[in-house]
Amino acid sequence: MSKKTVGSWVKSANIEGCDFPIENLPYGCFHEIKDVTAQKKIGVAIGDQILPLSNLARHINLPDTVKVGFAILDQLDMNTFMALSTSSHQEVRHFITGLLIQGSPFEHQLQSLLVSQSEVKMHLPCQVPDFTDFYAGIYHATNVGLMLRPDQPLAPNYQWIPVAYHGRSSSIIPSGQNVKRPIGQTRASEGKPPYFQASRRLDYELELGVFIGQPNPQGHPIAMQDAEEHFFGMCLLNDWSARDIQGWEAIPLGPFLAKNFATSISPWIITRQALEPFRKPWQRSVTDPQPLSYLESEQNRSSGAIAIELEIYLLTQQMQAENLPPQHIVSSEFSKAAYWSIAQLITHHTSNGCNLNAGDLFGTGTLSGPTPQEAGSLLELSRGGKEPITLTNGQKRSFLEDGDTVIFKAYCATEGQVRIGFGECRTLIEA
Ligand code: MN
Repeated sequence: MSKKTVGSWVKSANIEGCDFPIENLPYGCFHEIKDVTAQKKIGVAIGDQILPLSNLARHINLPDTVKVGFAILDQLDMNTFMALSTSSHQEVRHFITGLLIQGSPFEHQLQSLLVSQSEVKMHLPCQVPDFTDFYAGIYHATNVGLMLRPDQPLAPNYQWIPVAYHGRSSSIIPSGQNVKRPIGQTRASEGKPPYFQASRRLDYELELGVFIGQPNPQGHPIAMQDAEEHFFGMCLLNDWSARDIQGWEAIPLGPFLAKNFATSISPWIITRQALEPFRKPWQRSVTDPQPLSYLESEQNRSSGAIAIELEIYLLTQQMQAENLPPQHIVSSEFSKAAYWSIAQLITHHTSNGCNLNAGDLFGTGTLSGPTPQEAGSLLELSRGGKEPITLTNGQKRSFLEDGDTVIFKAYCATEGQVRIGFGECRTLIEA
C-alpha cells in the first residue's frame, strides 16, 4: 500500500496516483499561453497547477533562510539556483511545502497566483551547458552487443567503467516539441557505396536524465562520498537515434549525427530530495568484477540506487484517427536496469579532473529490463528491425514512422511511500 499524501489545499494534488502531490514539488520553466509578452517564469508543479516562484516576494514575506534562493529564481536563473548548497535547497523545499500544505495560512494569498498546467507552454527547465550520455543500462548494452559481437556482447571495459560519449546540448528540446526525421549518410551493406537520405531506422531510447547542481572546479575530482551533493535532480530523457546513420558513422569515434539532431526531456526536474524515499541499496553481483575503490562508498552500497518505474507508450496517426489512446508497449525499472549508480556516474566523469557545471545533463543510457518485452528501444524490441511489433490496431512497427508520437512516463511507488511521478516526455515525429 502506498502512503497517503500529507495533503495540499490544491485539491488536485491529493488525488491518488497524481504525479505531483506535495511530496514531489518539481521545478520547471513555463510561460502562460494567454500572456502576450510570453514572459517565462520558474514554478513548482502541484497537482494539475503550477505555483509560480518568480516574484513571490511581492505577495509573501520571505524568511531570511530562503531570500537568496528566491532572489535567484526572480532572475530566472535556474542554473545558479541549482548550484546552491543542499541545505539551501532543503530550506526552499521546506518553505514551499509550508505554503502549499493543507491548512496553510497562505492559501488565500496564493490561490489567485496558481496557473493551470493546461494553460502553459513548458520550456527547458534550465540552460544545459553540457550533455553526456552514459551507457549504464546493462541489458541494453548486452542486447545491442549481441547484434554486433555475438561471442562477446559486452566490451571488456563495460563492467569496469561507466561508459559514455559527449553529446550535444544545443539540440536538447522539451517534451511537446516535434522532432524532424533526420537526413544522413548510410549504406545498405558492406562493400556497397553509401548514400544520403532520410533515416529509415529512426528509434527512441528510454533514458533518465540527471541534472548536476553544484559545480566542481577543473582539476578537482568529486569523490564518491561527495557525489550526491552535486546531484540536483532528474527528468525523463529520450535519446533519439537514427540506427542506419549510426551503423555507418560510429566506427571509430562513436555516436555523432545519428544522435545529435535531437534529445527530448520532460520539463519538470524531480529533485534529489523528492526521490529520497525511494532509495535502495546499490548492488553488484558477487560473480561480477567489483568496482575499483574510487567508485565505491558505504553510502553508495547502502542507498545509491533509486527505484523508478519507467513506461513507454506509442500513439500512431492511425490510432489517433481511430480515437484510440496511446498504447503502453514497455515497462522497465531504473535500479534493475542500471549497472552504475548516479554517484558513480558523477565520480567517474570527474575522476580525471573534468569540471561539471550547474545544469549539466547526463543521460543514463537506455534502461531496458532483463527480458525482451522490457526493451527500451525499437532496435531491441524488433530485433534489429527483423521482427516488427504488432500494435493492438494491427499496425506494425520496426522503427518509427512519420506521425508517430512517443511518450515516456516514470513514477516512484515504493510500498509505504507517497507515489510521485515525473510527468511525461511526449514527442511527435514529423517528416
Ligand atoms: Mn543513449
